Amino acid sequence: MQIWDPDYECMPREEIEQLQLERLQATLNRVYKNVTCYRNRFKEMGIVPEDVRSLADLSKLPFTTKEDLRLNYPYGMFAVPLREVVRIHSSSGTTGKPTVVGYTKNDLKVWSTLVSRFMTAAGVNSDDVVQIAFGYGLFTGAFGLHYGSEMIGASVIPMGAGNTEKQIMIMQDYRTTALVSTPSYAVTIAERMEKMGVDPKSLTLKVGLFGGEPWSEAMRREIEERLGITATDNYGLSEVIGPGVAGECLCKRGMHISEDHFIAEIIDPDTGAVLPPGSVGELVLTSLTKEAFPMVRYRTRDITSLDYAKCDCGRTFVRMKKTMGRSDDMLIIKGVNVYPSQIEDVLFAIEGCQPHYQLVVDRKGALDTLEIRIEVTENIFFDEMKMQKAFLDKVEKKIDSVLGVGAVVKLVEPNSIPRAEGKASRVIDNRKI
Ligand SMILES: [Zn+2]
Repeated sequence: MQIWDPDYECMPREEIEQLQLERLQATLNRVYKNVTCYRNRFKEMGIVPEDVRSLADLSKLPFTTKEDLRLNYPYGMFAVPLREVVRIHSSSGTTGKPTVVGYTKNDLKVWSTLVSRFMTAAGVNSDDVVQIAFGYGLFTGAFGLHYGSEMIGASVIPMGAGNTEKQIMIMQDYRTTALVSTPSYAVTIAERMEKMGVDPKSLTLKVGLFGGEPWSEAMRREIEERLGITATDNYGLSEVIGPGVAGECLCKRGMHISEDHFIAEIIDPDTGAVLPPGSVGELVLTSLTKEAFPMVRYRTRDITSLDYAKCDCGRTFVRMKKTMGRSDDMLIIKGVNVYPSQIEDVLFAIEGCQPHYQLVVDRKGALDTLEIRIEVTENIFFDEMKMQKAFLDKVEKKIDSVLGVGAVVKLVEPNSIPRAEGKASRVIDNRKI
């Protein structure tokens, strides 16, 4: 197995922590000096950067939230003058103004290195032809993977999002070996191939680098079988740098976080308390080397856990589990916390369920209701009422036993749920709360 940066990626734990502490102190000095928001916040709490003498002291510092970025829109969180910024991206805002992030020349170099690391970990090298099916634009996904691929020396096809039949044609003609997209778009591509009568085995595709949305292990198996590839996961968010914060090695037992550039903490999303290693909670990230847009204790809203156990690949960086969803996406149904990815895991384990589903939450009187609409495969869309009833009973029982929440399951016709070209939207919440 190849490792892009063995000097860092395989560093002994004590050395990683020493490096993190030195870089953290430099970052805190930089933000205290250059970012008004941080200076004011630290002053309010009576903290100066010198108070942080160990990594444990990090927990004394305030969090940074998406709201802070909005309040400082567009350039208030930048730690360098605009003339030193060479690239500007923005993160998709579902409500209100998007957030703006910036990169110096050195930030771009670091970003490409981080992407090279996880692409190498997924088995990509200079012989590969990488097709990027993320949208090019303000979103960081496409550009991150693009420059990372070039740094590795792979051949990049900057295809962009959508236009599925053309994606498939290019895949065939240009002999693409690595696909970059959201996992839900990979399923869309697989389906279209089946419809077009293209046999995935006739292609040269061997690996998928998927990110941008939470997805389950069951969905991984589905993609691997249908496209005949190795499907890997990677993680990042624009506010922190973009893709490249973490990525999976071929052991596929969590994504290694580049700890020489970020410190990861897991907190209780309700109280903000730091949780012990192994706990499930919200991921909080602190950047250690970013010049233009440093982030101290940024609340990602992504729910995961960290694993410090040794990995067979030789990397020593901590691994984060696949994200279960965002703390904002968590549905509270009849008082029970439910993540859409948990439902996905249940559905995928049942034969006949397609990876297309929609959750509809409503409130009847004072009671929450959950309806799960699932698409079934053509051959299982049985006409016999009795068999259909038995199938529905099976799914409802399984959901109830795993989630502890009753749901009404409805079968819908094949291809009736809208297909994703980017992130899939799975939840319709009709409750007026
Ligand atoms: Zn590993």
